[in-house]
Parts: sequence; C-alpha cells; structure tokens
Amino acid sequence: MTKRQSSDVLLPYPVGRPYSYLTDGRAVEKGDFVLVPMGRRETLGVVWEHDAQNDDVPEHKLKAFIESYDIPPMPDIHRRFIAWVAEYTMADIGSVLKMTLPALVENSIRKPPRKQDVYPCTDIPSLKTDLDLSNAQAEAAKEMQKAVSAQTFSAMLLDGVTGSGKTEVYFEALAEAFRQNKQVLVLLPEIGLSPQFLDRFKRRFGTEPAVWHSDVTPANKRKIWHGVLRGETKCVIGARSALFLPFPELGLIIVDEEHDQSYKQEDGVMYNARDMAVVRASLGKMPVALASATPSLETMQNVWAEKYKHLILPDRFGGAEMPDINMIDMREEKTTSQVFLSDPLRQALVETKERGEQSLLFLNRRGYAPLTLCRKCGHRFECPSCSAWLVEHRRTMALHCHHCGFNVKIPKECPECDTEDSLVACGPGVERIAEEAKAFMPDANVLVLSSDITDSPKQMDQALQDIQAGRADVIIGTQMIAKGHHFPKLTTVGVVDADIGLSGGDMRAAERTFQLLHQVSGRAGRSALKGSVYLQSYMPDHTVMKAIANGARDQFLKVEASERAEAAMPPFGKLAALIISGPKEDVVRNYCRQLARVAPNYDNLRVLGPAAAAMSLLRGQHRWRFLIKADKTVHIQKVIEEWVAAVKQPSNIRLKIDIDPQSFF
Ligand code: ADP
Ligand code: ZN
Repeated sequence: MTKRQSSDVLLPYPVGRPYSYLTDGRAVEKGDFVLVPMGRRETLGVVWEHDAQNDDVPEHKLKAFIESYDIPPMPDIHRRFIAWVAEYTMADIGSVLKMTLPALVENSIRKPPRKQDVYPCTDIPSLKTDLDLSNAQAEAAKEMQKAVSAQTFSAMLLDGVTGSGKTEVYFEALAEAFRQNKQVLVLLPEIGLSPQFLDRFKRRFGTEPAVWHSDVTPANKRKIWHGVLRGETKCVIGARSALFLPFPELGLIIVDEEHDQSYKQEDGVMYNARDMAVVRASLGKMPVALASATPSLETMQNVWAEKYKHLILPDRFGGAEMPDINMIDMREEKTTSQVFLSDPLRQALVETKERGEQSLLFLNRRGYAPLTLCRKCGHRFECPSCSAWLVEHRRTMALHCHHCGFNVKIPKECPECDTEDSLVACGPGVERIAEEAKAFMPDANVLVLSSDITDSPKQMDQALQDIQAGRADVIIGTQMIAKGHHFPKLTTVGVVDADIGLSGGDMRAAERTFQLLHQVSGRAGRSALKGSVYLQSYMPDHTVMKAIANGARDQFLKVEASERAEAAMPPFGKLAALIISGPKEDVVRNYCRQLARVAPNYDNLRVLGPAAAAMSLLRGQHRWRFLIKADKTVHIQKVIEEWVAAVKQPSNIRLKIDIDPQSFF
C-alpha cells in the first residue's frame, strides 16, 4: 500500500483535533498556513502533527487542499504552546488556535494586502538609559540582563512598591534582549496600557512599541501579527491575548502587575495569562519576569520555594516616602444612611484642596446606588434575567443591571404597591459620593472616573490630562483609577468602603482586598509631596486592615499561605470548577444530579456540589456548579475528562470547565 498524500490540518474552530486533507502533490510542512474546504466553506488552517485517528478515514472521503500561503510557518514552539494550553485548560485545541488566528488575521492571510505592509517596532536604536539607577535597581537590572543572555528558562519576581522603578528596571532587560536581536513581550492589564506608559517606552527606546489590546484597529493588528510572525516586530506591549501572537524569536516575557485578576480570561478558553506566560517561557527556554508591588500568594510561594528568583526594589525612587495610613473606625463615626464620608476624611479633603493639592476617593461601585427599594412595601428592584439588584445611575436616570445591560427608567411609583415617590436609594456608588463631595465642597472641581463614564480610551486620556493639569480637586473613581497612574499633585486618598471585598466566601478575598487597598494607597504622594491615606472600615481590626496599616505584606501573606496549606487549597492543592448552565432550570439540575451520581471518588480528591451558583441566574441562564478539590499529584484534567464523558450532555446545556478558578460566583 502506498502511503497516501495527506496532511493533518488544525482549524480555528471548536474542534478537538486536526483533520486530514489530501495535499494534491503540494509540499507542505508543519506550521504552514493553508486553505482547506470545511463543509461548504473554505477556511484557513495550520498544518499540524498527524493524528492517528485520521488513519481510519478512507481516502475517498478526504478533501483536498485549496491553497497554501507564502508566509512564514507558525513556529513549532507556538504550536507546542497551543497544544499545551489546550490540554491544561481542557479547551478544544481549535479554540486555542482561534486565539492565535482572530478573524481579521485570517482574512489578511487569505487576501494579502496589496502593498507591502510596514511592520511596527522593527528597528530599535541601541540607546542607553539616561537615568542613574540606584544600587538596588542596577542589581536587579543586571540579574535580568544575565537571564536574558543565558537564553534558558528562568522565572523572576520583580518586587517593589509602586514608584520604585520596576518599569525602568525591566526596560534594561528589554534593551538586552533587543541587543540579542530577540523579540520581547510585555503583558499589562488592559487599563495599564496608558499613553503615559507608551511615552515612556518611546523615550527610552526611541521608537513606539507595537500595542495589542481590544481597542487596537484591525489594520494595526494585522500589521503587528504579520510583523511578529516574521520576527521583524521586536516588542509587543499588550493585554493577555498578546500571549497568543506567534513569536518565532521570543527571548523575554514580562508580566507587569502579575497579581491582576484581569489576566484570567473567564470566557471561551479559560486561561490565566500570567501562568501561561510562565509556561510559554519554559517551553521556549527564556526568562519570564513577573512584576508587582503586591505579588499574588501563588507567586510569593514560588519565591519562598526558591523556584522564582526574588529581585527586590525596597524604596520608592528619589526618596519619595510611602504615605501615612489612617484607619477610620466607622463604628465610631456619625455617618448615616445618607452620609458616607466621615468627618476626618472630609476634613482631609478640604485641607488638601486648600493646599492646592488633589484627592482621590476610591469606591469600586459604578452608578449612584447599588440597591433601590420601596420604603413602603420593601420591594427591591432586581434584574429579570440575573440574580442581581439593579443599580441606579443618575446620569441616565435609569436602573441598570451590571451583568446583562438590562435597564429601565426609574419609575415614579413602586411597581409592587403603587405608592408614589416611595423609592429610596440604598448605599453609595461613585455618583453619590460625588454628590456628597460637591455638597460640602461647593467650589471644588469633582471628577468622576468609572468605566461607564470614561468608556473610550480618548475620554480616559482626556480625564487623565485634566488630572495632570490640575483641573480636578477631587477625583472619584472605581478600580480603573486604582493602578498604574502617577499624579504628582495627588496627596490624599480616601477609601470609602475598605471592607467591600471581604464579604463572600472567596478564598482570595483577603489577599485581593490587601492588593487593592495597597494599590489605591500607592496613588498618594508619589513625588516630593507626602501622601496620606484614609481607610473607612467597620472592621479596623481585620488582619487585612492591620497589614495595610503596618505595611506588613509578607507577614500577611505568610499567614494566608499557612491557612491555605492547612486547607490544601491552591497553591498547595488543585481546584477546578464545573459550571453548568442552561435556559431550563430542571434540565440543568437533572444533568447535575446525573453527574453527581458518577462523581469521582478518591482519597486525594473531593467533589463539592452540585450547588446553585451564587449568580444562579445570569443573562437568563440558570447556573449550577461543582468544585473539585484535589491533591497536587492528581491529574485533575484526566479525572474530569473521564467523569463528564460518563454522562450524556443535553443539547441546550453548557458545561464550562474552569481549571484554577479565580472567580466563584
Ligand atoms: P514602578 O514601575 O515600580 O511603579 P517606575 O519605573 O514607574 O516605578 O518609576 C517611578 C518613577 O520614578 C518614574 O517616573 C521613573 O521614570 C522614575 N525613576 C525610576 N527610577 C529612576 C532613576 N534611577 N532615575 C530617575 N528617575 C527614576
Ligand atoms: Zn441582568
């Protein structure tokens, strides 16, 4: 029997393996981009490893290649990375390929642009930093440069308070990689990709980096993608999806703000870009540096276990001091259900303005009030499609669901008991805090920053410029303002509700609250002016508040770690979640019951649930959950795969598998 002339091609669709196509005498290699028929359509795919299951398909059933393209192949290392991510996250490998081949890129391969593309960030002049690095900075920079030169895998934590010069230090590592003619990837949370940051890059390297995030125009994305594939684009600064660009010559990965939750993708392929960046570095034999002022417990544990090198920048650059932390015990303050700012905080705001400086009030709640109820009958406004209260927004004079976008005009009367003017707003959102601030500081410029108000990068940029130029006295913002920004005149930070993240049973609640409070506090007094932070809390004795007040980060993390070790929770054990959802509750429940009946049952693994999710209704879908908790030695993916294969999944049910879940709602 002559060997048939076929190759296996992976398609960017939810498929679990590549399919065979006849090559028709074409010479194709693994990684080649090819056009093949699929059903009645033609689709782009990538020539992949042969899958033995395809041997059983008779030759006459195979279709033939349509075309192959004259662009560099997808690098082997990138194909291995895709396979690795698919296996770990239990996503279909085709769905992972899709992250590498977004539709706009597919089109540009199928119909190449007529004129030669100009790729961004191809020439980086070998400039030298004009800064005198401090000793700690110089030492950290040297370590990182050494790691880049070694061209083997290593992982580092670049650990320093905000303003300690972490960015300047990793720029030195970038410079070394460019000298070696390597490509570099810098991952940042989406909101960290500010014009300020790009300016700094340009000042240091004399050229603009390629920027990759959801708002980049398709034309730019195409250029970046092809530039990266050709190895010509040297530096990409991007949000998590940039990790799936097909770099052939990657030599260094930086994950800035590595603790940030936005690195976890919660839709589609559920992956953690921070963790997958470490995997990518390890497969490709290069260093990866995680940077943070508030490293995640997982990362610190890797430092303590000496898996990650610890590079410490102990001080703020230029001797700027850390701010004073003032705890305000709200149990002792005379605030009411209509007043949310305590006397000491109000006084600080007034004095700050008198000094000609700026204040930031932080509250992680958009809108005016998180709950509206009828004072006559107690009716609460809830979203018809989600288990969530509707949030009042004064800007739109409507009640909004923050989960599905549903909204209604605020009615005159209660829909339940018909009483007029009986509706009351409960609790504060940023709009309400702005109203309160304006009331006692009538001549202050109050600026509200939240994603519904400053929703375009342009508006955000304008707002940031206003702040820089001193056109705001009091800035009121949600977490979009918490990180990264540097405002020289901002000296006072007030946290309206420091306890907000501590409720609920999330094992990371304390850790995350610590990170957020620390980041927010870090906005105060970043230059010569000393900063002060006011934390309003009903639990001033909570370990998180104590740790913030005493600046005792590592001690706090050690205690958290020992508690997690005791409970065998990550990073000392493994977790995975199954999220089952569907439009009919009884179908969801029934399927869960069937799964429960055949749930794996071992000594080193426990299945918790099924239980209705905290968000038991989301966008009209009923949701139930299982949580799987296992020893580190368990191959949790394999167990889950066998388990869910044992029960037939009803057609209108969605089953999501979340390995290393970060959210538990
Ligand atoms: P981080 O990333 O840790 O928050 P940055 O790298 O942004 O810190 O540094 C904070 C500020 O201090 C920036 O404006 C930076 O340019 C400046 N800076 C840091 N190191 C030096 C240095 N050695 N000489 C002069 N300015 C520095
Ligand atoms: Zn809703």
